[in-house]
Amino acid sequence: MFEPAGTETQQRQSIVDELERLDERKREILAAVCTEIDEKHADLIRSCSLLGHVYGRPLADGRRVCVFCRAGVLVFPELDLSSSAGYAADA
Ligand SMILES: [Zn+2]
Repeated sequence: MFEPAGTETQQRQSIVDELERLDERKREILAAVCTEIDEKHADLIRSCSLLGHVYGRPLADGRRVCVFCRAGVLVFPELDLSSSAGYAADA
């Protein structure tokens, strides 16, 4: 357990410093986890692209997304085989 030492002012400063260290550590961990998840997400979308995205009807904002992976039309266009392997599905 964290036990600050010194005068009351020093103890309070130690608590503030420790809280700031914890916040920074939390940000670092969250950033690392988000990066890992983003990479896995991109890998799954890339795999879906290789099979050929299947786009549903346009969303309310006009965008079309794959009914399986929810990727937008322009994600990994170099791997998008939807023009030959996919088809427009009613989502
Ligand atoms: Zn897809």
